[in-house]
Amino acid sequence: MLSVKEAQKKVLECSIRIKAVKVPLLDSLGLILAEDVISKDDIPVYNNSAMDGYAVRTEDIKGADRSYPVRLILLAEDIPAGKVPTVKVNPGYCIPIMTGSPIPENCNAVVMKEDTEKDGESILVFKECAEGENIRYRGEDIKNGDKVLRKGKKIFPADIGVMASLGKSEVLVYHTPVVGIISTGDELLEIDKELEIGKVRDSNSYSLSAQLKEIGIKYIKYGIAKDEKKILEEKIREALSECDILLLSGGVSVGDYDFVKEILIGIGAELIFWRVNQKPGKPLVFLKYKDGFIFGLPGNPVSVMVCFEMYVRPLIKKIIGDDNLFRPSVMARAYHDFKNKRGRTNFVRVMLEKKDNEYFFKSTGIQGSGILTSMAKADGIAVFPEDAGDIKKDSEIEVFCLKSR
Ligand code: AMP
Ligand code: MG
Repeated sequence: MLSVKEAQKKVLECSIRIKAVKVPLLDSLGLILAEDVISKDDIPVYNNSAMDGYAVRTEDIKGADRSYPVRLILLAEDIPAGKVPTVKVNPGYCIPIMTGSPIPENCNAVVMKEDTEKDGESILVFKECAEGENIRYRGEDIKNGDKVLRKGKKIFPADIGVMASLGKSEVLVYHTPVVGIISTGDELLEIDKELEIGKVRDSNSYSLSAQLKEIGIKYIKYGIAKDEKKILEEKIREALSECDILLLSGGVSVGDYDFVKEILIGIGAELIFWRVNQKPGKPLVFLKYKDGFIFGLPGNPVSVMVCFEMYVRPLIKKIIGDDNLFRPSVMARAYHDFKNKRGRTNFVRVMLEKKDNEYFFKSTGIQGSGILTSMAKADGIAVFPEDAGDIKKDSEIEVFCLKSR
């Protein structure tokens, strides 16, 4: 049986051709840039005022203060945003100017309105200005030819704003795969149905959809498939014709009705591995199909989510060109002793607490792979290595953080 590390390596070394596609600017949010963004403009493209006030010549108001105000004659014209000044400001004059408006010729500073007082056709200035004060200079943010955003970076809201300011209406990003989700099992109910003996609501397709949604990946839900070979095969074929990655849950263990692997191999998928030396999630199966991938996830609700975190998410991250394949991890100390079986990797749901600059982890309670609330309570997944045995209080362990803190 493969170890966790070996299985993760097999998933991530699958040759993936990362395609780039052009999308409208706003659709690129959260995706990975597939091009360098180079500016064709100076931003701002003209020297302009950072304040509402008066454009002045600094030499005219040297020494001005509250007790010795300097009088400047107001020009009749003013400069609202968007207007280009047409007059020249001669010594002893000034011109009203608004935030964002172009600085007129001869002026080298803007005195804030708050530092002046209007007096008929002139103003009294109560403060001297340094050259360039309250002026935003051409190109001070971005210069023509600057590489503003680099290929491979994730796109955040401010990047959208920057690209908009550069006039970029379309952006080249890495293709995001479409993921199909199928839940298998005769016992499964739609979530709006009443429970009865022998039945379970299909939570897996919702957990998986949410995990995909969290990373901005499109998914198609193909609903619940009964444990019947024909029905299952039909659904699988339908999903594979539309999706780059297919996630199945349930039916990959050694039960009499676990047909998933057999059907997938039957339709020509290439088995990369089945079973990983881990708990939860041992029966995980991974296959390649044409240009895409198939994960057969064990049906237990915690196994599904943990396998997604450890295998599916990293593969998707790789496909979309994101360098951060795994969740951020911290080294944390056990807050109490943990019973732990040696000989396999155990993924333990834990709560994290920071004390004196150190992280500590506590168990979320019963760790059964059907206890989905253990996942809901968890801040992270602690990875107890194969050779670990019982974990003593204060031992240092890697914990993958599930929630941003
Ligand atoms: P299986 O891997 O098909 O043997 O399923 C293992 C366990 O997971 C069983 O107890 C199932 O009832 C449960 N299970 C399977 N599929 C789902 C699902 N979609 N939602 C919630 N529980 C499930
Ligand atoms: Mg089943």
